Amino acid sequence: MAAQETVDHKYVYDFSEGNKDLKDLLGGKGANLAEMTNLGLPVPPGFTITTEACQAYLATGREPDGLAGQIEEHLEALERAMGKRLGDPQDPLLVSVRSGAKFSMPGMMETVLNVGLNDQSVVGLSAQASGSAGQAASGGDRFAWDSYRRLIQMFGKTVCEVPGEEFEHALDEAKRAKGTHNDLDLDADDLRGLVDAYKKIFLKHTGREFPQQPREQLDLAIRAVFESWNAERAVLYRRQERIPADLGTAVNVVTMVFGNLGPDSGTGVAFTRDPASGAQGIYGDYLANAQGEDVVAGIRNTVPLQELEQLDKASYDELLGIMARLEEHYKDLCDIEFTIERGKLWMLQTRVGKRTAAAAFVIAGQLVDEGLIDLDEALHRVNGAQLAQLMFPRFQLDHEFQPVAKGIGASPGAASGTVVFTSARAVELAAEGESVILVRRETNPDDLNGMIAAKGILTSRGGKTSHAAVVARGMGKTCVSGADEIEVNVPAKRFIVAGQTVNEGDVVSIDGTTGKVYLGEVPVMPSEVVQYFEGSLDPEHIDNALVRAVHRIMTHADGKRRLAVRTNADTGADAARARRFGAEGIGLCRTEHMFLGERRELVERLILARAEGEREAALAALLPLQRADFEEIFREMDGLPVTVRLIDPPLHEFLPPLEQLAVNVAVAQERGEDVAKEEALLAAVRRMHEENPMLGLRGVRLGLVIPGLFAMQVRAIAEAAVGCARNGGVAKPEIMVPLVGAVQELETVRAEAEKIIAEVVGDSGVEVLIGTMIEVPRAALTAGQIAEAAEFFSFGTNDLTQMGWGFSRDDVEGAFFWRYLELGIFGISPFESIDRDGVGRLVRIAAEEGRAARPGLKLGICGEHGGDPDSVHFFHEVGLDYVSCSPFRVPVARLEAGRAVVESGGSDSR
Ligand code: ADP
Ligand code: MG
Ligand code: MG
Repeated sequence: MAAQETVDHKYVYDFSEGNKDLKDLLGGKGANLAEMTNLGLPVPPGFTITTEACQAYLATGREPDGLAGQIEEHLEALERAMGKRLGDPQDPLLVSVRSGAKFSMPGMMETVLNVGLNDQSVVGLSAQASGSAGQAASGGDRFAWDSYRRLIQMFGKTVCEVPGEEFEHALDEAKRAKGTHNDLDLDADDLRGLVDAYKKIFLKHTGREFPQQPREQLDLAIRAVFESWNAERAVLYRRQERIPADLGTAVNVVTMVFGNLGPDSGTGVAFTRDPASGAQGIYGDYLANAQGEDVVAGIRNTVPLQELEQLDKASYDELLGIMARLEEHYKDLCDIEFTIERGKLWMLQTRVGKRTAAAAFVIAGQLVDEGLIDLDEALHRVNGAQLAQLMFPRFQLDHEFQPVAKGIGASPGAASGTVVFTSARAVELAAEGESVILVRRETNPDDLNGMIAAKGILTSRGGKTSHAAVVARGMGKTCVSGADEIEVNVPAKRFIVAGQTVNEGDVVSIDGTTGKVYLGEVPVMPSEVVQYFEGSLDPEHIDNALVRAVHRIMTHADGKRRLAVRTNADTGADAARARRFGAEGIGLCRTEHMFLGERRELVERLILARAEGEREAALAALLPLQRADFEEIFREMDGLPVTVRLIDPPLHEFLPPLEQLAVNVAVAQERGEDVAKEEALLAAVRRMHEENPMLGLRGVRLGLVIPGLFAMQVRAIAEAAVGCARNGGVAKPEIMVPLVGAVQELETVRAEAEKIIAEVVGDSGVEVLIGTMIEVPRAALTAGQIAEAAEFFSFGTNDLTQMGWGFSRDDVEGAFFWRYLELGIFGISPFESIDRDGVGRLVRIAAEEGRAARPGLKLGICGEHGGDPDSVHFFHEVGLDYVSCSPFRVPVARLEAGRAVVESGGSDSR
């Protein structure tokens, strides 16, 4: 010992040594128990064994050196402080051994109460309990034996893996023998008998007697808590919640206090405000004469916390005082666990409580009003995912609707529809105009068509990264996955839930936000937050705490953000809506829809043009149509920039499919009709067929191959802008060339466009910018050259992701992404949130080199990542000027752009 040079690594912290910021080391529970201890709140004394000890144990399979000694020291200190010894036969100190990781993992890991009880100390405990409070001897007796049977039960189950049902059966048996359903009717003798029964169960399953040595009980319990980190359900939960697998759990050893000592004792849980709505008030449940686990287990009915005021006013008042104190200290909603032992209040747990999306906004607003936090902090406490949730329509739930099952809210929204069990049936019914919910045990790539046809998807297996979940999120379709109370029988076309049979054709409703499943059709109501954004709810004049809070926080975000937010919109109607949602321009106006519908015929003529002048005629006919489209959009976006992308998809996409044409031609020939035109089309389709259309004749390549096509579009844009100016408006067109990979491509298009623009614009004062998308990796890598010919860049991160990774989005999401997510190759789909390391690096390089070549180069992004919270933060960091996203995502992007400033350290003055 004397030769030992290094000081033992510190593995154990007394509650008085820790604080709330040590969650990595002490876990959330331990850090907050320490914080409460240091605030002077009544916390039963105890200590925390660190996550580092757990990590060491899990890595080597044994306790690290020094741990046993440190536990001994802290235990002795605890015994001195309490004036009792662990498991002392006369007056035993008892402890609980509680798990507690950095991130809360509710119900995933283990806790053992009443450690230190054995055949002797149970007698001592009984005498102490009876004597000290002058209770009838039998009261103390009953309590002691009840505590002992709980220890054997919890210890057996969690430490020695004895099947929990066996204990449950023995308990039910004891109650039946007594002719009761209530645990409290079992007296001391019944419980003594139950302890014997439990011990036999323990012996049968473990091959040994229930351990009588208190210290052995303690050590085994600590070890079991360490090991519970790797329990299957904990592993699954972490994967789902993206909690790192190597954090480990801390272990808290806490002096037992007893809520089961009689009617003047009890236990409860509470929130400092309503976690559902955010409303101020007292929200909690109380259960007299019980230990903590009973509240959660729902063995007996709890009463609202308010009733504690009648039962024990002093404790009630003290509790309210402590709750106010905790809120003030944590500056946030807290949830707590407490126990009252014979009129004395003890705090057993607190943490910043989980809350709904609505409550997050409301509470943040309230805390600002109360002066506890400032608006920056309020902005930090809400997020775009919550805002997006609040923008979905939701079920209007009154009391008649009770969920029959709860799965994982895998893709948000509210959907009602007819139950179907196969993809084919989903397609069939949807074609008849019916809303259907596709119900499967789990989905696979063969279900894709059914998923597209369905209004919502419900599965009984699989988590947030299952096939169903991933694909549904990609489609923006409501999905509840892993509702395991549902027994799906596909061949029989029915499922069974809560004892009821639901057949194909019955109606169910699923809530993809909460994961709840309802039988029948639940009415849907529109989102108030959307009504506010649309301008139909005035936050100043309505009594709606949520709308007021959203308004206030959004206003602050707008004041903070550096990124502008534009929208992707192709029509006047979309543009108008996006503008109401706060869009500051259009970042992507696709022009392909302007070639659809009745105009297809003109496109066919364009493609088939052979004779002199035919192509020109087709283009001339398209020109006024396009001009009118642009005029409408410029009018809606008066005064704001509009980026118009020249035509991007391969032209054969505008022609009928090959098979259909071939059949048409054959049928017409059979009938002896004139098929010259169809044959020409068929030949064109054959000629233009591409193996990889994604990498084929599209974008700028098309513009360089088909004379006059881009020129017509440029002319339509310029003429529309001039027309707008003539009517007193201000149009700010930005012409964007897609799929450029080399500066020469852009230069060629530019030379032609500039001539046309100069000719059309004349002295109207209209200014037209010309820029390019950066969506081919080569463009990102040669951005310095390309910037010479571009007045702006807009990152097309969808294509950049496809070409960066070398897979096509439409093919891969259903085919293998779910597997990649399961394996952890992706944390999240790279189409959903930008891959910072790879695709993000391309963006960074292009931004830097583009700006170096042309200072003041305007930079934006118009892929779907523009509305993804995490990606918005990335684009802020990289220094882009704006993000552009779909109209519904505009508020999310505004909020996140503001949060990005706050989180990167305050005000950004660029
Ligand atoms: P969980 O994290 O699952 O809530 P806990 O460690 O908080 O598990 O413990 C489970 C229950 O046991 C809780 O209700 C808690 O209040 C109660 N409990 C834990 N330790 C003690 C103790 N020392 N005295 C009394 N009750 C306790
Ligand atoms: Mg707890
Ligand atoms: Mg593209």
